[in-house]
Amino acid sequence: AKGAGRNNYRFFDAELQIALTARATLEMDLRQGIANNEFRLHFQPQVDATGQVQGVEALLRWQHPTRGNVSPAQFIPLAEQSGFILELGQWVLTTACEKLAAWRHDPDLSPLRIAVNVSAKQFRSPRFVRSVIDTLTATGADPSRLELELTESVLADDVESLVEKMTTLRAHGVLFSLDDFGTGYSSLNYLKRLPLDQLKIDQSFVRDLMTDPNDAAIVCAVLTLGSSLGLQVIAEGVETDAQKDFLRRHGCAQFQGYLFSRPLAEEALATFLEARRPV
Ligand code: C2E
Ligand code: CA
Ligand code: CA
Ligand code: CA
Repeated sequence: AKGAGRNNYRFFDAELQIALTARATLEMDLRQGIANNEFRLHFQPQVDATGQVQGVEALLRWQHPTRGNVSPAQFIPLAEQSGFILELGQWVLTTACEKLAAWRHDPDLSPLRIAVNVSAKQFRSPRFVRSVIDTLTATGADPSRLELELTESVLADDVESLVEKMTTLRAHGVLFSLDDFGTGYSSLNYLKRLPLDQLKIDQSFVRDLMTDPNDAAIVCAVLTLGSSLGLQVIAEGVETDAQKDFLRRHGCAQFQGYLFSRPLAEEALATFLEARRPV
C-alpha cells in the first residue's frame, strides 16, 4: 500500500509537471503571437434604442498556427498572471487607435466609438496614463472616440490614484465604462467618486432576465442607479427581443449582444454598417 501511495504521488507529480509545461509553452506562444501577427481585433456593435450603431467593443482574437482559435477566456488570465498583459494590452490600444484614425475617412465607420478592455494590472501600471496619451497622439485618433472598459477589480486600488488617472484621461476626452457591473465588489461609495461615463450590466444578469425575478430586480436596480448618478447604462449579452424590450421599458438606452450582432472582423463590420445605412 505504501508503494502504491508513493506511485500515486509520483503520478500526480508527473501530471502537474505536464500541466506546468503546457502552460509555459502556451505562454511562450503568446509572446511570439504579437511578432508573428497572430492577433486580431473583432468589433461587436453597440446600438441605441433606435437600432443606430453608436460604437463597437474591441475583442481580442488569437489565431495560432497549430492551436487554432484560442479563446480570450483562456489566454487573457494567463497573460495577466505572467505580466504579458502589459504588452498585449498596449498592442490592443495601439491597434484600436489606428483603426479610429483609419476610420475617419469612412462615412459609416467615422461616427463610431471603440471600447477597449483594460485589465486591472494594465491600468495599475504607472506608465498607463502616459501610454494612452502617447498612443492617441502618435496615431492621430480622436480621444473622444476612445472608451476604456474597466472592471470592478480596479476598485481594489487606492481610490485617490484611480480617480486621478481617470480624471487626467477624461480631461483629454477619453470615456470610461465600468464593465461586468454587479459581479465584483463595487462599493456604492466608491462608485459615486469615480469619474465614469457608463455602467455595463453584466451578461450574467441579462441571460435569465425573463425567468429569474432576482436578475430582473438587479437589472432594474442598476438602471435606476445609473440614472440617479447621471451615467449611461449599456446591457451586454442581449440575445432576445424579449430581453431588449424589458430593458427598454426599464430605461436602458444602449445594447450589445448576439441579437444585434456577434463580434465581427473589420470587413464584416463595414458590410454590416453598409446594410443598415438609412436610405
Ligand atoms: P467581456 O469584456 O465581458 O466581453 C463580452 C464577451 O461576451 C465577449 O466574449 C463577447 O463575444 C461575448 N458576447 C457578446 N454578446 C454576447 C451574447 O449575446 N451572448 C453571449 N453568450 N456572449 C456574448 P469574448 O470575446 O470571448 O471575450 C471574453 C472576455 O475576454 C471579455 O469579456 C474580456 O474580459 C476579455 N477580453 C477580450 N478582449 C480583451 C482585451 O483586448 N483585453 C482584455 N484585458 N480583456 C479582453
Ligand atoms: Ca468588456
Ligand atoms: Ca463585460
Ligand atoms: Ca464578462
